Amino acid sequence: SSTGGSLRPQTSLGVASSPPATASSSSATGDAEWTPSSWKNAVAKQMPVYEDEAELEEAVATLNGVAPLVFAGEVRSLHEKLARVSQGQGFVLMGGDCAESFKEFHVNHIRDSFRVIMQMALVMTFGSAMPVVKIGRMAGQFAKPRSAPDEVKDGVSLPSYRGDNVNREDFTPEARRNDPFLMVKAYYQCAQTLNILRAFSTGGFADISRLHAWNLDFVEGTEEASRYRKLAAKVDESLRFMKAIGVDTGSKELTTVDFYTAHECLLLPYEQALTRQDSTTGKWYDCSAHMLWVGERTRDLDGAHLEFTRGIGNPLGVKISDKCTPEELIRIIDTMNPQNVPGKLSIIVRMGAEKLRKNLPGLIRAVQREGKAVVWISDPVHGNTRVADGGYKTRDFVNIRAELRAFFDVHDEMGSHPGGVHVEMTGEDVTECTGGESGVSDETLKDRYITACDPRLNGQQALELGFLIAERMRL
Ligand code: PEP
Ligand code: MN
Repeated sequence: SSTGGSLRPQTSLGVASSPPATASSSSATGDAEWTPSSWKNAVAKQMPVYEDEAELEEAVATLNGVAPLVFAGEVRSLHEKLARVSQGQGFVLMGGDCAESFKEFHVNHIRDSFRVIMQMALVMTFGSAMPVVKIGRMAGQFAKPRSAPDEVKDGVSLPSYRGDNVNREDFTPEARRNDPFLMVKAYYQCAQTLNILRAFSTGGFADISRLHAWNLDFVEGTEEASRYRKLAAKVDESLRFMKAIGVDTGSKELTTVDFYTAHECLLLPYEQALTRQDSTTGKWYDCSAHMLWVGERTRDLDGAHLEFTRGIGNPLGVKISDKCTPEELIRIIDTMNPQNVPGKLSIIVRMGAEKLRKNLPGLIRAVQREGKAVVWISDPVHGNTRVADGGYKTRDFVNIRAELRAFFDVHDEMGSHPGGVHVEMTGEDVTECTGGESGVSDETLKDRYITACDPRLNGQQALELGFLIAERMRL
């Protein structure tokens, strides 16, 4: 159904302004009661330590009083779409920065990412004749898990940078101090980001008849640009045909888009503060994003992140590397989606092509044997990071492509549905990942290397990947 379009305020769904002390929700193991703060009784990995408890309380109190960023009705409309994907009807496209930042924040940055996601989605929808569910790693993707708690440079050791909503990137003791008020600053940036995304989604920018006008400067003169123009001409032709036979091409389906947001559920004080009870259903929703996922480093069965997410009504994801066994996966699924509700849980697989060919069949087999409803999503980037000369963290397009191909191959063999892709990308012409037709090389990485975190596909590389997926999905 197209009711409750994403990012449109649902006036009928009020939300409580602050969480009451108790609420219950069933747990997989039938153990203790869930509350928005019950995660505090479990071990929270990757959590910043705030030296001033009073400051933390003040920041959290401020966040308890802010408006929710998303609304329960929108969250439910995403859930319905994901339920259809879990049944083989549709494909998920998730994309955006590894980490949003205060420095890179600009309406043009948001517009460029949004536009490339729309272009990829158009290519993929046309190629597969399947609905593509569009989700931005945006308006909340700040906090980052780190492999080491400290960073050592020239013999000096300082706490690691954990994202702009925790501390700052500069290598000084002041910058690396965890500051709880950065959560509040990040919230206000998220509110601006969502506001502009809502405007782009429904204010005419996303009208399909304007798809030629979606700027292609970033790929001008390339293979992707001419392929995109050819495809746009075909879509135009179809639109003219539809118009001729009396279809209303000015309808909502063709002039607006449902665009959702998601981020890693990592910084639990922030997530808890934005968790509100839906007045119409009594369910709890984390109103910081439509969908939340738990990262590879924090998905412990007895950890705080699984405890927190098991109680919220949002669709969830969990990142899985080759370290996850089939038994462990089933227990994670039982915890995060105890009622086995279709669309509730996406398994985001990220392990590199070789390990994926070896491990994914066993994971799928376990899920099939236990009759679990999940959406399988490929993150073909996080298992393919390497450090190039000059210290640049990068990813090679061939490896990303190889992992995606392996993902599709394994699902074909297992008779399961490859349900989506999750990538770190930007609409801008950065030089952070090597290869593809864009021809970024180890030598040119330094030209426009902007990310403070993981390397992103640039606009051209992202669009090229969109075409590759579209071709593969048609097979
Ligand atoms: C990420 O998505 O940026 C991330 C840290 O991923 P993972 O948990 O898969 O390592
Ligand atoms: Mn990342």
